Amino acid sequence: MALHPLFTPEHDEFRASVRAFVESELTPHAMDWERDGHFPDWVFKRMGDLGFLGVRYPVEYGGSGGDWGHTIVVAEEMARVGSGGVGMAVAVQSDMATPPIFRFGSEEQKQAYLAPAIRGEKIACLAITEPDAGSDVASIQTTARRDGDGFVINGRKIFITNGVRADFCTLVTRTDKAAGHEGFTLFVVERDLPGFTVAQELDKLGMRSSDTAELVLDDVRVPGSALLGEEGRGFIELMWELQGERLIGAAGSIAGAQLVMERTIDYAKERRAFGRPIGSFQVNRHAFAEMATELEAARQLTYDTALAWERGEYPVKQISMVKLYAGLAVGRVMNRCLQLWGGHGYATETGVERAWRDSRVLRIGGGTDEVMREVISKTMGL
Ligand SMILES: Cc1cc2nc3c(=O)[nH]c(=O)nc-3n(C[C@H](O)[C@H](O)[C@H](O)COP(=O)(O)OP(=O)(O)OC[C@H]3O[C@@H](n4cnc5c(N)ncnc54)[C@H](O)[C@@H]3O)c2cc1C
Repeated sequence: MALHPLFTPEHDEFRASVRAFVESELTPHAMDWERDGHFPDWVFKRMGDLGFLGVRYPVEYGGSGGDWGHTIVVAEEMARVGSGGVGMAVAVQSDMATPPIFRFGSEEQKQAYLAPAIRGEKIACLAITEPDAGSDVASIQTTARRDGDGFVINGRKIFITNGVRADFCTLVTRTDKAAGHEGFTLFVVERDLPGFTVAQELDKLGMRSSDTAELVLDDVRVPGSALLGEEGRGFIELMWELQGERLIGAAGSIAGAQLVMERTIDYAKERRAFGRPIGSFQVNRHAFAEMATELEAARQLTYDTALAWERGEYPVKQISMVKLYAGLAVGRVMNRCLQLWGGHGYATETGVERAWRDSRVLRIGGGTDEVMREVISKTMGL
């Protein structure tokens, strides 16, 4: 099949190098990291050394000056690790916590946070969600109030990926409650500042090798230089960040489901019941036909949307559709595949149950299915 216009032969070469790295240096450890509940920090450093953490950032900050095609290649190939938490943590580093620093940050912030994050020397997290505010981002309670030349921040953040080990945090606050949507402000906050603590590390269904923290900010004093972007513009800046987050989350999950489906096809050709391979039953052949169609549709929508963004559009509606549809399609594929493996799908050793658990987060993180439906229906004048 011809390459999608998002990609060139150069992207294929890049894909081969990311795949070789993942399969030789990460995949062999996946089971251990799943069992331990975390992967080691050296993964960030090694990926930084190889240039895989800054593919879309300019060379002056240590990036590769690539495009959305490269970013999607990394997300897709990370699905081969065999432990979804690694790809998610890396995506938070490269495509969620640092893009606001690149786009809205000062030169000083780019040198202090973006460049070391691209090198894998500093680990980043993005803190939006709070114990009492998830989907309804506008109701977050974390405040930053001016204090001399700086600010004092108070609040709690929950479900923060990389939050336990992060060196810095891209943080969403309110600087002016009375100003509504114009009262939000982003900050880049060092994690070792007095008053900034990890209240707990959360246990969770999937993505088990990534750490997920509840963070507490208790009178955390930050200098004025910690303000990211424009005071009062944080809500709009955050909405921009969420678009990339949704696109990249979908791309990685679709690739994960594709891998599981391919493995399931191989299994269905070999596994026999009632004297025949289970893949020869019409009901199962048709299930594969439907799964392949759904994944292809999700992938093409993802690529088309990434290309639209690459060409200068800001395709909010399409990105919401990508995330919604990918979440539903991936969920259906994972479920069906697990069923086709029978008891072996439920058992840990095949990795199918792990992929099934990991994939579920796509319908929740970065905006739930219901939030996507809200965004899409609003663009339809409803
Ligand atoms: C593994 C994992 C990693 C995460 N990483 C991060 C991270 O790094 N940084 C970060 O900030 N957050 C992170 N999150 C949080 C995630 O983005 C939120 O969980 C998500 O936005 C949903 O918010 P909530 O959990 O508070 O659910 P709620 O907002 O309480 O929603 C509960 C239910 O109500 C539904 N609902 C809400 N509003 C409506 C409506 N208007 N109409 C219909 N239904 C509605 C929701 O769709 C959902 O089904 C992570 C979550 C997980 C699970």
